[in-house]
Amino acid sequence: MLRRSTQFFHHCNLQTFISIAINRNFSIHQSTKLDSFPPNFPNSNIAAPTFKLIHASSQEYDFMLNECVNRKHVRGGQTVQAHMIKTRYLRHVYLGGRLIVLYLKCGCLDDARMMFDEMPHRNVVSWTAMISGYTKSGFYYEALRHFVEMLRSGTNPNEFTFATVLTSCTSASQLECGRQIHSLIVKSSFISHVYVGSSLLDLYAKSGRIHEARLVFEGLPARDVVSCTAIVSGYAQLGFDKEALDLFCGLQREGMAFNHVTYACVLTALSGLAAFEYGRQVHGHVLRSHLSFYIVLENSLIDMYAKCGHLVYARRIFDEMRERSVISWNAMLGGYGKHGDGEAVVELYNKMREENKVNADSTTLLIVLSGCSHGGMEQIGLEFFDEAASTSGVDLGIEHYGCVVDLLGRAGQLERALQFVKEMPLEPNAAIWGSLLGACRAHQNFRVGKVAADHLLEIEPENAGNYVMLCNLYASDGRWHEVRKVRQLMKEKAVVKEPGKSWMALGQTLHTFYAGDRSHPGNEEVLCKVGEMSDRIKAAGYAPDLSCVLHDVDDEQKESALLGHSEKLALAFGMMNVCEPKPIRVMKNLRICVDCHSFAKFVSLVYSRELFIRDTSRFHHIVNGMCSCRDYW
Ligand code: ZN
Ligand code: ZN
Repeated sequence: MLRRSTQFFHHCNLQTFISIAINRNFSIHQSTKLDSFPPNFPNSNIAAPTFKLIHASSQEYDFMLNECVNRKHVRGGQTVQAHMIKTRYLRHVYLGGRLIVLYLKCGCLDDARMMFDEMPHRNVVSWTAMISGYTKSGFYYEALRHFVEMLRSGTNPNEFTFATVLTSCTSASQLECGRQIHSLIVKSSFISHVYVGSSLLDLYAKSGRIHEARLVFEGLPARDVVSCTAIVSGYAQLGFDKEALDLFCGLQREGMAFNHVTYACVLTALSGLAAFEYGRQVHGHVLRSHLSFYIVLENSLIDMYAKCGHLVYARRIFDEMRERSVISWNAMLGGYGKHGDGEAVVELYNKMREENKVNADSTTLLIVLSGCSHGGMEQIGLEFFDEAASTSGVDLGIEHYGCVVDLLGRAGQLERALQFVKEMPLEPNAAIWGSLLGACRAHQNFRVGKVAADHLLEIEPENAGNYVMLCNLYASDGRWHEVRKVRQLMKEKAVVKEPGKSWMALGQTLHTFYAGDRSHPGNEEVLCKVGEMSDRIKAAGYAPDLSCVLHDVDDEQKESALLGHSEKLALAFGMMNVCEPKPIRVMKNLRICVDCHSFAKFVSLVYSRELFIRDTSRFHHIVNGMCSCRDYW
């Protein structure tokens, strides 16, 4: 019979106690080693115990269950539970909770549920355990349903319940439900609890309500690395790169310590801004903080350096990685691709295939195809596509077909491209028709261009860029009558062009320029500089491409409109403020226009400056009058 004297406790260690306690009633197997815990009941072929079954005390059960929870020993828990049933022990609500925790910890959701359903009394711990179990297993609606039932049963949630149920709302994209829980949290005064605040912040940030997330963040009684990371990554993921960076810098000044996830988020924001100097500083912080290097952090560094145009740094980190994921490969390949270095893309892709440690995914293929098309390696790109299309390993999406159209378009095979579009298994979208139209402009193919434009304007009648491309196609051949017709169409449909915006980082500040805008301090000076540069490169052969201006104004006005393009302003500002031989780096929110592209090439030649212009579609690395895009973007 089980002795319950405290003496017994003192003489045996805990583990021995559990073994003996269990074994007393179930078998005569008197193990004193935990390795054999629990005994193989009921398959034991040793004679059944002959003594009377008697239950243990709740303190003893608690010890046993705790040991099972710590060791994630589900069979031990089942044995203890069986013992309770057999000895008709009336379970205390607390012990029931421990059993639920044990089952959930071991991934036995059904057992936990059964246990929970059988409980005559439930307290906040058992409710929260169940809700958390459902949340962790991805049954978010079930978790929410249990939360509602809990409220109905009159049990008051605690901070852990709120934090858990908010996680479910976030994962199930239930913002409205989350808002209701928010007001409940305010009413029950849990708002100042840091777990609750962090979960609430995460809910708003991930639902795209960054303003509300910020309010919650500002209201937190104390900030920890989790809440800081949540808010910084919230900004970064929504594309508020500058806000993410400002917040990060502010928190850093306050002495906040960050973890690898925060750094990875900030680096993502920085690559969005292509702010190299900040990026290098963050890299320095990472090195100084002696964080162990995580693959996600290294991937972000590669991505940041590549997007800022520093492929050498990116490649150094890539080469030194002990282990690489497909994301590492994609970041490095993407870096080369954006720079128009098709050969490097093909070389690295071949290396990846040779190493054969990581499988290429659909993103890899996309990067490789577009790398080939931007790098003038049409044939190789088409071969890669055929290879992928004939094997089933990679999912081919509309973007992959778009790349093929681009490849054929660049190779000047426009009829074949049109045929390919007509035969592709997916419905061609605006991007595909747009790419075909762009190719027709470059190769002056009016027949295919007209077909592409008709489809394009039907799918996207509101996109000004399409009209611009069509105008450019006609203007390149002096078909002004057609150009006027397209402009008229634009007016009828009241199409509005997104205003052009360019920016560059100088020291600690980002300088932003808008087309034709004079808001930047010292803009008069910048405009003067643009004019001066224009005059100087005109002498070297630059002629403004007036077809880039779609308003019906005279040529002089067209020229001055061209000079006001935001990338020219940023470029001139860079010329005034960036010392040689540092390259000038400009970012632009739209595709660079034909005129600004030619302007930049002449500037690089006449002033012997190295320029990087990143637009929405790619990087233009311009040196000596030549651009890495080979005038095709
Ligand atoms: Zn322009
Ligand atoms: Zn270019």
